[in-house]
Amino acid sequence: MSANSPNALDVLKKTFGYEKFRDPQQEIVDAVVAGDDALVIMPTGGGKSLCYQIPALIRPGMAIVISPLIALMEDQVAALQENGVRAEFLNSSLTLEQQRTLARLIRQSKVDLLYVSPERFLSERFVEFLHSFQISLFAIDEAHCVSQWGHDFRPEYCQLNQVFERFPTVPKIALTATADEHTREEMIQRLGLHQARHFSCGFDRPNIQYRVNSDLSQAKQALLAFILEEHPNDSGIVYCLSRKKVESVANWLQEQGIEALPYHAGMSAQFRAHTQTRFMREENIVIVATIAFGMGIDKPDVRFVAHLNLPKSIEAYYQETGRAGRDGLAATAWMSYGLNDVITLKQMLEGSDAPEAVKRIERHKLDAVMSFAESVECRRKSLLRYFGDELAQDCGNCDNCLSPGATWNATEEAQKALSAVYRTGQRFGVAYIVDVLMGKKTERIEQAGHHQLSVFAIGKAQSVQQWRGVIRQLIARRLLAVDLEGYGGLRLTDACRGILTGAEALYLRKEQKSKTIKTRQNTV
Ligand code: ADP
Ligand code: ZN
Repeated sequence: MSANSPNALDVLKKTFGYEKFRDPQQEIVDAVVAGDDALVIMPTGGGKSLCYQIPALIRPGMAIVISPLIALMEDQVAALQENGVRAEFLNSSLTLEQQRTLARLIRQSKVDLLYVSPERFLSERFVEFLHSFQISLFAIDEAHCVSQWGHDFRPEYCQLNQVFERFPTVPKIALTATADEHTREEMIQRLGLHQARHFSCGFDRPNIQYRVNSDLSQAKQALLAFILEEHPNDSGIVYCLSRKKVESVANWLQEQGIEALPYHAGMSAQFRAHTQTRFMREENIVIVATIAFGMGIDKPDVRFVAHLNLPKSIEAYYQETGRAGRDGLAATAWMSYGLNDVITLKQMLEGSDAPEAVKRIERHKLDAVMSFAESVECRRKSLLRYFGDELAQDCGNCDNCLSPGATWNATEEAQKALSAVYRTGQRFGVAYIVDVLMGKKTERIEQAGHHQLSVFAIGKAQSVQQWRGVIRQLIARRLLAVDLEGYGGLRLTDACRGILTGAEALYLRKEQKSKTIKTRQNTV
């Protein structure tokens, strides 16, 4: 670096048109400019890109940015070029002719940032090419792809370090929005970041209000009521687990007068692009989508994100809800989920071809998101704790903070439910157990002779809804296990001993009554 190299703040202002750095961008830029390695953990939308783009413009040589998604790479390069930055990308979409032109530009030192896919980066030819010019830094975007623990695992990421090692004096900066302990450790190990300085910034999104509803009897109606009462004419995103559900929910919302548009990977690229454009430009579009929607969407005024199913993990929930309220104004994260989601997700997981090691991780993640959903604690506290942050006080802006005391001592009910599972032989599913508790003489129950058990009709005083809630929460706390090979039969786990003996008490969330409203009739 020479004495007259530009200063970081000048680059921020002149090239990017921003007045000041966000915390901790300046520190990161300074560290990388000085030649240190850095590990940057910041939520999506936090401003990670500038952390390597500015050093790339200050340090001599060309920066190599490894980026896993071609579409994101191309968007980034286009945006940089618009700001007059000499950025290019190299991936499989370039023709041979374009590649030659690019190589010429690079040899003439006319490129400051080169975005490249991990596959290309690892190719023998590219590694050789790397020796022919000065490299200012290596940036590893979406660095969590190196982790098997993550949902975006990319095996190529594990080999990157073999190339980095050939350039020991070139600083590395790894960036991600995934912050859990495991992922952090894997990034350090696999990307050779033992000397790296760590930077992370707050994961808290104080303007988002978190709310979770469990086992609403009419989730769709409750969603509609929520939209009409709290977010009429606002932009929002509704996530569903399946394409079929996306289409039926979008249709139904349209019938109710909401500007709802479906979006999933099974639709044509043209239709999806059109939907996305409308969402970006118009003020009151509600997108109903599978998780395929959202990557790279940066619309500041999304006022709500709703989940009609339980997300697969806390990371997914955080990322998806994080698309609300980017402008800092009040926004709502609303979720409705039920026992069926839990069983479906578990069955999907066990039935997949993934190796056992991956399944074990996925199981942990599902358990974590389930306990989050069932928790009576401040939502923000439990979310942030998952990402390694401790919130000193309850947030006052989540359902559990806003309606405290919504718990009841369910120890006795839990004992009854556990006994019913035990006495019926630990092989029946939720519906059967609830029938036994309620004293319903079905044909199956009579055939099995279960109407003669002492637990039969032991729970008449409660409603079916309450029993489903008790069982759901027992599953969430792993006091009951679901048999996933057969028909979802329930069995006791070792952990339930304390409850059965009365040594432990169980407090559960009160089931909230869903607000139902009159839905509009479908007029032709
Ligand atoms: P991330 O990669 O962390 O998801 P980006 O780098 O895409 O986030 O930045 C998110 C948005 O914030 C972009 O629109 C970016 O231009 C903007 N941004 C980043 N840093 C600043 C800053 N210092 N001042 C104003 N806007 C910024
Ligand atoms: Zn709270």
